Amino acid sequence: MKIRLKDYRIAPGEEVDLKKRKTLVTPVYHSKDNYHEMLADHVAKLSELQQRHYADNSHAVLVIFQAMDAAGKDGAIRHVMSGINPQGCQVSSFKHPSATEVQHDFLWRAAIKLPERGQIGIFNRSYYEDVLVVRVHPEILEGQGFPAKRLKGDDLWEDRYRSIRDFERHLHANGTRIVKIFLHLSKEEQRKRFLARIDEPDKNWKLSPSDVEERKFWKDYRKAYEAAISATSSADAPWYVVPADDKENARLIVSQIVLDLLDGLKPHFPKVTAAHEAELQAIRADLIGQRE
Ligand code: ATP
Ligand code: MG
Repeated sequence: MKIRLKDYRIAPGEEVDLKKRKTLVTPVYHSKDNYHEMLADHVAKLSELQQRHYADNSHAVLVIFQAMDAAGKDGAIRHVMSGINPQGCQVSSFKHPSATEVQHDFLWRAAIKLPERGQIGIFNRSYYEDVLVVRVHPEILEGQGFPAKRLKGDDLWEDRYRSIRDFERHLHANGTRIVKIFLHLSKEEQRKRFLARIDEPDKNWKLSPSDVEERKFWKDYRKAYEAAISATSSADAPWYVVPADDKENARLIVSQIVLDLLDGLKPHFPKVTAAHEAELQAIRADLIGQRE
């Protein structure tokens, strides 16, 4: 089945209502085997495109993942990037900021992890946390020496959205192509996955009491996501709200998003100049002559 990405893309200026956006849709695969075939096909195409993207060295690609806990960010990143040459891809995870990081503006720690031209950068969480978890728990900023006066103003979040829009516009203008993916999970599916993390010993390390605590703020997170996505989806850095209750289906949609982005860049291997071609032929003749 064809994956229609426009079903998931948020148009610039659109007011997102996550309750109206499905967390589960008819899968694009029709059997487990078919899923594996489709994923393998996507991975092979991604690998080929990435080699050309690397050689072309004209743009950087940035893929941002945001989601509630257990939505499958890690699995999506692992599966989708499995065929990629590690030299051309870096994954950066953004967790609770360090003492040094909070001494800077909220974009700083992400800015220093941005991908170079020819590279694919993956952000597992990102500067969006600063308008998501921090908006749900603004007390986080109080503990960081953030100017108290700014905290009280209503315009703090609008200012941050604007900073993000400006930052992404600047990146685009300088050759970075950005997509932002929200893995949209239902509260019930998260409950099931948390239970599985308790029942399966190999997954125990993945669940902490704070994860369950954050579930209580589900509605606040939904509102924070809606506001952030609505304010920052642009033609140059679009958001995709990807149904995530079916992990396999989400991986196929995510890989299609990255494929389309890379394909749209039309990366090509650098053309050999006539002068270099002549050099190569001279070297060839020389090497053939050196046969022992
Ligand atoms: P997993 O899916 O494996 O649990 P994770 O991305 O949730 O991975 P954790 O170490 O569990 O990783 O959580 C990182 C935590 O850091 C999240 O709760 C996130 O909200 C928080 N965090 C990220 N950025 C910030 C920030 N700028 N300020 C405060 N908290 C942040
Ligand atoms: Mg976590």
